[in-house]
Parts: sequence; structure tokens; C-alpha cells
Amino acid sequence: MATFGNLSDRLAETFKQLRTKGKLSASDVDGTVREIRRALLDADVSLDVVKEFTARVRERALGDEVNRALNPAQQVVQIVNEELVGILGGQQRRLQFAKNPPTVIMLAGLQGAGKTTLAGKLAKWLVKEGHTPILVAADLQRPNAVTQLQVVGAQAGVPVFAPEPGTGVGDPVKVARDAVAHAERALHDVVIIDTAGRLGVDAEMMKQAANIRKATNPDEVLFVIDAMIGQDAVTTAKAFQEGVDFTGVVLSKLDGDARGGAALSVASVTGRPIIFASTGEGLDDFEPFHPDRMASRILD
Ligand code: GDP
Repeated sequence: MATFGNLSDRLAETFKQLRTKGKLSASDVDGTVREIRRALLDADVSLDVVKEFTARVRERALGDEVNRALNPAQQVVQIVNEELVGILGGQQRRLQFAKNPPTVIMLAGLQGAGKTTLAGKLAKWLVKEGHTPILVAADLQRPNAVTQLQVVGAQAGVPVFAPEPGTGVGDPVKVARDAVAHAERALHDVVIIDTAGRLGVDAEMMKQAANIRKATNPDEVLFVIDAMIGQDAVTTAKAFQEGVDFTGVVLSKLDGDARGGAALSVASVTGRPIIFASTGEGLDDFEPFHPDRMASRILD
């Protein structure tokens, strides 16, 4: 994964040096932890997350499990791996479905985060899993948004519920509510609601998203975040958590060559699990997120 190339290389280098040692002294551990700290900060992981992470690694690396290990350096790598899995959310968290369909999934995030693309990816994936989803165009802010969702829907082979053309600006809350009622009648078992984003966090957008949430009572509210936005990821995520309160995170653009710290900070800072990862513009560039696999990729 291009995103973590640099971080991976730096950690690999740090561990290589560590492996030349037999027993580890406190200063070996401190040196290693310092290198890890720098590598994470340079990858744009948020300071709070880095502090907590390195404190835990240090405490464990100085403890008995390393002292008694046959290969102390390897044990430290193992600890870093486990702690990375921890900040990425621990166990895999699967998408939750409603006991009584339709399952309602609402997408939220800034403009350009990748929501509309994700709507198509998710729809295609759900069809493959045997579901009968419908996409809902509740982004009525941008003139092109409805058309863009229709294009994505056609690619995924999934119908799109949208306000009638020419009926004016429309009310996204009503569109979302009508769509859920329509899905019940037409037996679509999953409703995916695409909502409007803005370039920055904006009170009106947040209120609209909160109103859509209230009107449709979603089973999942997925916050889509562009892994390339760096340090802004944490403030954006917190604003959305306060404004709409999401149930899970989708990391998009993990194929980019930005530093990817967003990916490593968001779950830990919000306490919400990462459920999917998006790795390209195509509808198949998408997968359920596994904290342990991501950690292994970073440490490979
Ligand atoms: P929205 O404004 O949140 O609905 O974002 P869009 O779905 O319109 O995506 C914005 C741009 O990012 C589009 O050009 C997409 O093709 C692109 N995009 C979305 N997801 C990914 C991804 O995972 N990787 C890459 N490289 N580009 C993506």
C-alpha cells in the first residue's frame, strides 16, 4: 500500500537495528521507541495517538514479556504489531444489518472525500453478497451530484432513488425518508443514502446530515474520510462525530502516496471502528477493513 511505504521503511530500519542486539537495555528500548515516535509523527499520525501508542509500547518493551523472550527484538516487533492493531480498532467490525430490513446506511463526509464513489462500491459489494440495495441521492447541493450517483448506480447495476428532475432544489430529508418507504415497498433490503458534503466543516451541512439521520434512523452512519488529508483528519472526524455521530469509518484513497496518518488516527481518536477501506477510483477498489492485516502491511 503506497500510503504507508515510507512509514513501513522507517519501521523496518528501526527493527533491523534492534535485531543486532541480544538482550535489550532500557536505552535500546528508549532509542527504538524514539524512532517509532518520529516515524509515526512524520507519517502525520496525530500527536495524542502517537504519545499513547509509544507509551504503551515502551512500558511493554521494558517489561517481563521481552525480558524473558528468547528473541527480545522479535518480541518488541510483536508488541508494536499488537499495539498497531489496537489503535486500528482491534477486532474486525463487520457492517451491521437491521433485523427487519431494510438496513439503512447513511454516508457522511466532506466534499471530495469519496462518498459517491463509495456508494457505488458498497452497492456493488452488497449485490455480490446477495443483497438488493438501492442508492439514494440526498446530495442535492451540487448540481452534478445526482447525475454522478446515477452513473455510479448504473455501473454497479443498482437503482437510484432521486427527486424528479425539474422539481427544484428539493428537500434531502424528504428524499431520504421517501426512499426508505420506497425500499420497504419495493423490497430493497439495503438503502444507501449519499449526503451532501462541503469543502470544510460547515454548520448547515452538519445540521442537514443530522436531520437526515433523525428522519431515517440508520443502522450505520459511515463517515468517509480521505486518507490523504493528513493532520486535518482528526479535527474533521471529531466535528462529524459531534455533528452527526457516526457508527463507523471508511478510509478512502488509501492508494494515494500521502502519509496516511489519518488512517492511523481516526479510529483511535473517535473510538469508532474502521469498517471499509477504499483503494482506487474503480468500483472494485474496495474491501472490508481488517485491523490485523493493515498492521501487518505496515510492518512488512
Ligand atoms: P464525494 O464528494 O465525497 O461524493 O466524493 P467523490 O465520490 O465524488 O470522489 C471525489 C474524487 O475522488 C473522485 O474523482 C473519485 O474518483 C476519487 N476517489 C474516490 N475514492 C477514491 C479512492 O479510493 N482512491 C482514489 N485514488 N480516488 C478516489
